[in-house]
Amino acid sequence: MLNLSIHSKLPHVGTTVFTVMSALAAKYKAINLGQGFPDFMMNPQLIALVNEAMQKGQNQYVHTNGLPLLRERITEKIQALYAARVNAETEITITPGGTYAIYTSLTTVLQPGDEVIVFEPAYDSYIPNIIINGAVPVLVPLTYPDYSIDWELVKTKISPNTKMIMLNTPHNPTGSVLSKYDIEQLRSVVKDTSIFILSDEVYEHLIFDDRQHESMLRYPDLLERSFVCFSFGKTYHCTGWKLGYCVAPAALMKEFRKVHQFNSFSCNSPVQFALATFMQQQDLYLQLGAAIQQKRDFFQLLMQQTKFKALPSYGSYFQLYSYAGITEENEKDLAVRITKQYRVATIPVSAFYNKEKDNKILRFCFVKKESTLEEAVSRLMKF
Ligand code: PMP
Ligand code: GLN
Repeated sequence: MLNLSIHSKLPHVGTTVFTVMSALAAKYKAINLGQGFPDFMMNPQLIALVNEAMQKGQNQYVHTNGLPLLRERITEKIQALYAARVNAETEITITPGGTYAIYTSLTTVLQPGDEVIVFEPAYDSYIPNIIINGAVPVLVPLTYPDYSIDWELVKTKISPNTKMIMLNTPHNPTGSVLSKYDIEQLRSVVKDTSIFILSDEVYEHLIFDDRQHESMLRYPDLLERSFVCFSFGKTYHCTGWKLGYCVAPAALMKEFRKVHQFNSFSCNSPVQFALATFMQQQDLYLQLGAAIQQKRDFFQLLMQQTKFKALPSYGSYFQLYSYAGITEENEKDLAVRITKQYRVATIPVSAFYNKEKDNKILRFCFVKKESTLEEAVSRLMKF
């Protein structure tokens, strides 16, 4: 008998909460406010452009670093939004999604034993991505209830082994965003060190209430040590297309590309051709924040009819709601019960912590049709 056994690189990892909750939602025919994806149609013009690219025969490998024209478009956008000059040839790589860009950045930099500062709650791929590279996540809790960064605490966690700080703004799952104060603090923490920054900015356009997105791209002294990761899926409401990109200084990008070329090599061609044309319409991404803010406000107003208490959301696809004082059930049990009993799926925020944590908070995705949100809330009113 063949006896093969794998010495697991991720012995403590199960199936991601998004897969679990979406499967449960499907099983119980629940409205899925769990996993972050829109339920409305994306822009049909972009679909037509992909179709056109396919019909024209733009179906073969593009350059390993990404279609040059698309990278040019990205530099134009970066220049317009963040007043930064990024070199399309040497400083941008198109990737199969934001998650891949994050994983590749970590793999490019990390050696066994390196420490990475991670703020919790954290997007669920970060810690496994660090561990698989033999590095060590150093967890720093965001301060409840506004989920801000306690920079004094960060300073105490920096050691000679600190290789990287991971940031995410706007933040998943909390909807918090970095401020100018945070940028100043970050500067003072990394100054005179050789610490890298990984900045997950997949929700760059989904920012509300006239706040400014504090991208690393705005700050040359931070950008020079940063890998900045983006996702077209989030921007253009096509999460299943899985296309993103990473921006980093040429010397860092050179190493990133060594990892990338032997992993995916290149990404979906017709989608890149289509986006290179579509991105010329800058007003589309400029309008996004206001459009998604409208959804947040609509949902928030409806949710006032339920027992849940809103925590502020300044960006992303998400809003947190507390059920403290309503039931003692833990987040996971309650999320499962609400899916089965009231047929609305959510995500327990405990899934974004390494160790079990129970603040009695659930995450709701509000990037849905108004009719979907209305039906979901009418069900939640019975809770
Ligand atoms: N980072 C965060 C914070 C996310 O919420 C997501 C989910 N889309 C990603 C990265 C990954 O994006 P993509 O789907 O393009 O891999
Ligand atoms: N980013 C999405 C979320 O937070 C999910 C992406 C995924 O399923 N991996 O809901």
